[in-house]
Parts: sequence; C-alpha cells; structure tokens
Amino acid sequence: MKFDGWLSYRLDKTKEAGLNRKVRTMETAPLPLMTIDGEKQLVFASNNYLGLANDKRLVNAAETVLHEFGVGSSGSRLITGHTNWHQKLEDKISQFKRTEETLLFSSGYLANVGVLSSLPEKGDVILSDELNHASIIDGCRLSKANTLIYNHVDMDDLEEKLKATESCQRRFIVTDGVFSMDGTIAPLDKIMSLAKRYHAFVIVDDAHATGVLGENGRGTSEYFGVYPDVIIGTLSKAIGTEGGFVCGSKVLIDFLLNHARTFIFQTSLPPAICAASYTAFEIIKHSKDKRQLLHSNVKKIKTSLQEMGYTVKGDDTPIIPVIIGDTHKTVMFAKRLLEKGIYAPAIRPPTIPLGESRIRLTVTADHSLKEIDYLLKSFNLIGKELNMIK
Ligand code: PMP
Repeated sequence: MKFDGWLSYRLDKTKEAGLNRKVRTMETAPLPLMTIDGEKQLVFASNNYLGLANDKRLVNAAETVLHEFGVGSSGSRLITGHTNWHQKLEDKISQFKRTEETLLFSSGYLANVGVLSSLPEKGDVILSDELNHASIIDGCRLSKANTLIYNHVDMDDLEEKLKATESCQRRFIVTDGVFSMDGTIAPLDKIMSLAKRYHAFVIVDDAHATGVLGENGRGTSEYFGVYPDVIIGTLSKAIGTEGGFVCGSKVLIDFLLNHARTFIFQTSLPPAICAASYTAFEIIKHSKDKRQLLHSNVKKIKTSLQEMGYTVKGDDTPIIPVIIGDTHKTVMFAKRLLEKGIYAPAIRPPTIPLGESRIRLTVTADHSLKEIDYLLKSFNLIGKELNMIK
C-alpha cells in the first residue's frame, strides 16, 4: 500500500540511524526484580523511587474506591468528572506542597503543555533550559510567546537572556527541578534571585523531585527553601500512581481551569487513582527512612562507579547517567547488561547530545545492597571487557 510504503521508508531511515524503538512487555509489578519478555531481570530503569506503585496501602485505597465509583470517571472535570476524591487529592497536594491551590491533570505531560500553552501570552518570552523535558518543549511550541533556550543550568547565560529581553512584556523562566536525562538539580535558589532582579516568573517541573528531594520530600522548593510561582508535578514517579498536577495561587488555578485546554478537554483521572495518590501523600510525609535509603543507594552506586573510572553525570538524585560516549558501544554495553540479567536502557542521540550516549540508571529505595553489588560487579566486568576501565 502506498501509505505503508511511505511509512516504511521513513521507518527504515530511523533504523539506519540506529534510533528505532520497541516496547518490552513487563509481566510483573514494578519491583527491582521483574519478568520482562519472559526473562527475569534486575531493573535499574523505573521511576518507582519509593516503591509506592505496588504498596498494599495504595492498592487497598484504590480498591475501596473502585468498588464505590467504578473504573472510569466518564467525563471531563468541568462536566461530570470532578468527584470528591479529586477535590480531596487537590487539597492534599496543596497542603503537601504548601501552596494555596492545586489543579489535577491526567498526566504530568499534559500539565506542562497546559500551563505553557495558556499562561504566557503573545509578546511574552519563555526562557527554557536546553535540557527541559519534551512536554515543556511541546508546551513552548504551542505557546504564542517567544521561546529562548538557555544553556543547561547556566546562570550567566540565563542572566544575559534576561537582560536582552528587558523590553518584553513578561518573562517566564521554566525549568525541570531534576533533569530527567542528566540527573542535575536545577539551581532554583539562583534562578529565583535572577527572577526577582529581572521581574520574571518561575515555573518548575518537579516531576522527579516530588517525594524525593527536601526534608519532607516536598521537592526542589523545599530543598532550596524557595517559592516559585508555578510548581508542576507528576503522580507517576515517586508517588507511584498516574496523573499530573499544578500548584500555585488561587488565581493561577482558577485561570488554568478556565484556559488550559489539556485540562478542559480531557476526561479526568479515575477516582480510584485519586484515592491511591491521596494515600501516597499521607505516606510520603512519614517516609524519611525510605528517602534516606534511596539517597544512600544513590551515593553507593555513584561513588563506586566513579572509583572504577566511569564518568557519572548529575547531582545526588535517583537518576544516574553513566557516560559511555560512543553510541554503538553504549548499545553493546546495555546488551551485555541484559545478558547478565540487568535491565538499564541505553540513551542515545537525539535524546542527548552526540558523543554523550549513556546508560541511564535509576535506583529506588527498594533495591537491596545485594542487588546493587551485583550491578556494580557487572559494570566492572563489562567495562574491562570493552576496554573502558582498567
Ligand atoms: N516532566 C518530566 C521531567 C518527566 O521526566 C516526565 C516523565 N518522563 C514528565 C514531565 C511527564 O510526566 P507523566 O509521565 O506524568 O506524563
């Protein structure tokens, strides 16, 4: 068929560039040890940072509400999709994030797109970190404001761009709290100072920081002790469920409820998911031990890999990028890991810059020391085999 022929041609180009993707089938719950495509694998690739996705307390909360409300919400929030569970969860998140109000979205992706496509207007400028998540990039593309990209966490470059845009109507600085490919923590304290000096607004996507960073897991704002204008988050990582949210002032939330198209035109989250998420926020407040365990796992892996001679990027977050450099070598590395029963993905251009191909490890509080030791031993063996370390 003409249509399929044209698509096959395009797919072949993707394959020739070594950029084709495929899905793997997970046959068990998101634990460190999973069955993937029929094989037992030790997984260093999931965002279930605190092990909540399969926590019985969340499962029980969802089950109770499932029996009461059914499986789907059957409507958008402004028609029939707003239940008392949506309200309870929004209030809970506002309390947790210490903001006036919260608005739930069906995913973090849609929350980012909704905010960035509705808030900045024509004549405004969005200043966006070059490594921001795809959903921020897509939101910027949909916005009528101009977008300027500043170098990754480069405060001098950001300041230069703030100076150069002083005549513009409004400026919005948008950044990931923790960067999903590099594991860097955005210098939110410095960003906030620049924003104050140059009268800009700050939007933070705290997808990977919620539940993980800060004394009580409130995210980068707690970690730095600052209050950005807009905090965006996802329920799909440390919270263990599904959905996105935006926190801020009462007026901001009322504005988004009226203008964010990804909120208005989407069926709302199932109430059972809201109930499970509500329980997750209750648990997270009292999860200091789990967070400490998570951070000590991160430290152990990072320092051991560095001692072996690997280049490990990023700050102390559960995202640990091990730079291999060459794309083919990185793919080979991931394949060798898989043969040893370890699943950790190879990340290649265009997701990251050329020459920076990497194995992107993510670690959770539920990884045991024995599992971490096995990972480290395998890195040592494979690195020597491929002449990467001595
Ligand atoms: N922001 C960042 C930084 C992310 O890493 C992700 C998920 N990969 C998202 C937003 C999207 O969140 P969700 O999965 O809830 O759509």
